[in-house]
Amino acid sequence: MPRRNRRNPRGTTRGRRQEYRRGKPRPCSVCPEGGVDWKDTSFLRKYVSDRGKIRGRRVTGLCPQCQREVATAVKNAREMALMPYVGGR
Ligand SMILES: [Zn+2]
Repeated sequence: MPRRNRRNPRGTTRGRRQEYRRGKPRPCSVCPEGGVDWKDTSFLRKYVSDRGKIRGRRVTGLCPQCQREVATAVKNAREMALMPYVGGR
């Protein structure tokens, strides 16, 4: 039985998001690659803005696990001086 709340009397919020999203749902692009390598900076750069900030999950379209893996990989790469903490200003 679906859980209902006051803000959304029609039921869960689960199905609603797909109604709003147009086009085909984009699957996570990291899962098939089976993990993230923090030494692969050209790969990590896709998930970092030109200012050096890690892009959010809404932008990257990754699943929660991969988003976290990418985030920690970027932080690791920063610590090893492979990536900048702050990008071109
Ligand atoms: Zn994933």
